[in-house]
Amino acid sequence: MIGITDNLLGSVVGVYLARAKDEEILKRKVASGGAVTAMLIYALEKGLIDGVVTAKRVRGFEGQAIVARTREEILEAAGNKWSIVPFAARVKAKIEEEDLKKVAVVCLPCQAQFFGQMREFPILETDFGERIRYIIGLFCTGTFAFEALLNYLRIKYNIKAEDIKNITLKEGFLEIQHDDSFLQLPLKEVYSYLQTGCLVCTDYTGMWSDISAGFIEKEKGWTVLITRNIRGEELVKGAEREGYLEVRDGSHVMGDILRAAREKLARAQKNMMSLL
Ligand code: SF4
Repeated sequence: MIGITDNLLGSVVGVYLARAKDEEILKRKVASGGAVTAMLIYALEKGLIDGVVTAKRVRGFEGQAIVARTREEILEAAGNKWSIVPFAARVKAKIEEEDLKKVAVVCLPCQAQFFGQMREFPILETDFGERIRYIIGLFCTGTFAFEALLNYLRIKYNIKAEDIKNITLKEGFLEIQHDDSFLQLPLKEVYSYLQTGCLVCTDYTGMWSDISAGFIEKEKGWTVLITRNIRGEELVKGAEREGYLEVRDGSHVMGDILRAAREKLARAQKNMMSLL
């Protein structure tokens, strides 16, 4: 247990590298390590939750909010999304409709703040904070203004939205698979298509989460997990104990995470200055 607090990272109880033990999860196209998928399946199968609210990529950059209630539905939703999915209203309707009492929410840092505040400081009689059992926040450097970026890809590279099969973040570029070809777009080229709000966002890891998850280049095949509280710790440890997760110490990657968090803060400060 590390027990440090850093303004850039929020509360940190433990930092781990984890990966799914289940071969099927590893074989699927999941984010590096598949640890989030494995933890969610563990929580569902052990009755800790009765559904997972997450975004599923349906086409190109486009995501759709879904509630996954089975192992297969969780697997189908795994992987990176490149557009922000406004799912608060949909989540509320869905969990009420299906009368879900305990859900895990997988979301971006800005959404984690919304859900975290709703859980800690309920302000509306109609909110659903008491039903949120776990908030899993994904490391985030920004999401794209998706229509504008798709237009750019169509005009400059003749790539149609419906032909995009996969998008992967590599070091310094986005790799876009369309049909059977790959386009490597330098991040600098697509930077101007980030959502305006992302340009002034300061939270890289999702400080309001119970567990933050992401990956770093030098530990390919592993998911970085930052636990924020006892609830997050118990989820990781439980999934490890029950054979869903392989876990090792990740304190040596804190420097890389802090570097990325500082870069995001510097970007926000620079952009805020230009707004003043
Ligand atoms: S950069 Fe910030 S505002 Fe943009 S999607 Fe990520 S967490 Fe949300």
